[in-house]
Amino acid sequence: MQISKHVHSLWLDFEIKLKDGTSVPRFVTSYIIESNKKIFLIDTALKHSSKTILEYIDSIGRNPEEIQGVINTHSHFDHIGGNLFFQEKYNPMFYAHHLEVPYIQDIELQHQERPVGEMIHNVGGPISIDKTIGEGDSLFLGDLEIQIFHTPGHSIGSISLFIPEDRVFICGDVLPEEGTLPIYENVNSTLSSLRKIERMDCIETLLSSLSRKVSKGEDVLKHIKSGENYLKKIQSLIDKLKNDNKNLIEITEITTMIFKELNLPKSGIIPIVLKSIQAHQN
Ligand SMILES: [Zn+2]
Repeated sequence: MQISKHVHSLWLDFEIKLKDGTSVPRFVTSYIIESNKKIFLIDTALKHSSKTILEYIDSIGRNPEEIQGVINTHSHFDHIGGNLFFQEKYNPMFYAHHLEVPYIQDIELQHQERPVGEMIHNVGGPISIDKTIGEGDSLFLGDLEIQIFHTPGHSIGSISLFIPEDRVFICGDVLPEEGTLPIYENVNSTLSSLRKIERMDCIETLLSSLSRKVSKGEDVLKHIKSGENYLKKIQSLIDKLKNDNKNLIEITEITTMIFKELNLPKSGIIPIVLKSIQAHQN
C-alpha cells in the first residue's frame, strides 16, 4: 500500500510454529522507500516473503535491481528472514544498529538467547552487515533523506526512520499495540523511546510495524499514547497481582493471569513473552 510519495507498506502474514505443533498467527511489516532511481527495502520479513516483496516492487513499476540498500530496524527473525535472498540476488548495502549486528550475523546465537518457536527456520541465513547506523545518522536515496533514530526497548538496538520530505515516521516494533502479544526487552527504554517520538512535532504519518493502522495528524500522538497506556496497564496488573499474592508466584503463572485479563490467547505464552512480563519486574 502506498503511504506517501516515497513510502510503501507491505503487511505480511505468517505463523509462529511452536515445538508442540501448534502455531500463533502474526504479521510483519516491510517497507519500500523509493526515489527517482533507487529503492531502500526496510526489513525483509520471512524467507518466504521475498516473493511477495518482489511482486510488490514489480506492481509499482520498479525493479529489484534498483535496491540500493536494505535496512533492518532490528534483528528479530521476522525482520531478517529474506536478508540472504536479497544479498545473494541483488547485493545491496545492508544497514543495522551495531547492537543488533551480532544477532543478524549469527542466527544460531539469536535462537539460543531468545528462541521464538521454530522461527529460525524462516530465516534464509545470516548475512554480514555492511554499515552500522544509529542516532543522528542520515541515509540518502539520491536527494531523499532518511533520518535514523535509536529507539530501544523492544530490542536494545531497535531503530526508527523518519523521511522528512514526506513527514513519515517508521517506528518498527517499538510501539506496543493493545491486544497484541507484549514483546519488549526493557519497559523503561520502551517508554523513553515513545516519549522521544512524541516530542517530534514534525510527524504527519506514523507507521508501526506491529499494526496495520496508518496514523495521521492528531492520531499520531493518540497512537503512541495507546502504546504507553498498554504498557502501563500491564504494569499495574502485575503490581496488583503481586500485591494480592504475597507468596512469590512463578512468571508463567503471572503471565497466564495477565493474558486472561487482557483476553490474549494462551498459545501466545512463549519464552520471549515471558521475558517481557519479567521485564516489568526488573
Ligand atoms: Zn521485533
